[in-house]
Amino acid sequence: MYLSRLIYFSHPTSLGDADIDTILSVSYANNTLRGITGALFFNGSWFVQVLEGGRSPISDVYARILRDSRHEAVRLIQFAPIPERSFPDWAMRYIGGGPAVDRAIRRFMVDGFDPTAISDGDAMNRLLLALSDATPAV
Ligand code: FAD
Repeated sequence: MYLSRLIYFSHPTSLGDADIDTILSVSYANNTLRGITGALFFNGSWFVQVLEGGRSPISDVYARILRDSRHEAVRLIQFAPIPERSFPDWAMRYIGGGPAVDRAIRRFMVDGFDPTAISDGDAMNRLLLALSDATPAV
């Protein structure tokens, strides 16, 4: 298995909390079956997702995610081999918005969260790790 990491960002279309809960529960089930781990950031305006695992399972799930009408303007930042996982214990670590996350974001981006300002996948992965550390686990 080639351990790989895929990172993308996108805009939600019309989404409520129930939609996020549905996405997360489907993700937990599917990703656990396929050995995929990662994190999903959502602040109401942006999704950023990190998917880690085998190259084929990640390609398959990303193809489904691309077709999903709950978001749009999906932009791939990274799909590359990695030596180890950053979120090994999480079928999908959810990182929502909130004051602690906003404070952590401002350490990286003074004008607020804008994934288009980050071109490097490793930097985006480090940002999500920092935001994960700032968020209580749910
Ligand atoms: P089905 O559930 O059979 O759905 C068929 C089609 O409808 C698919 O194109 C699906 O994307 C779409 N769809 C399903 N439910 C809805 C709905 N309520 N509203 C609009 N369209 C819908 N899945 C994972 O397995 N792992 C992940 O990590 C993951 N992350 C995601 C992150 C984001 C930001 C989004 C928006 C979705 C994510 N999903 C993830 C869900 C993924 O897009 C698929 O819905 C899911 O994998 C089920 O795929 P399926 O082919 O069985 O589709």
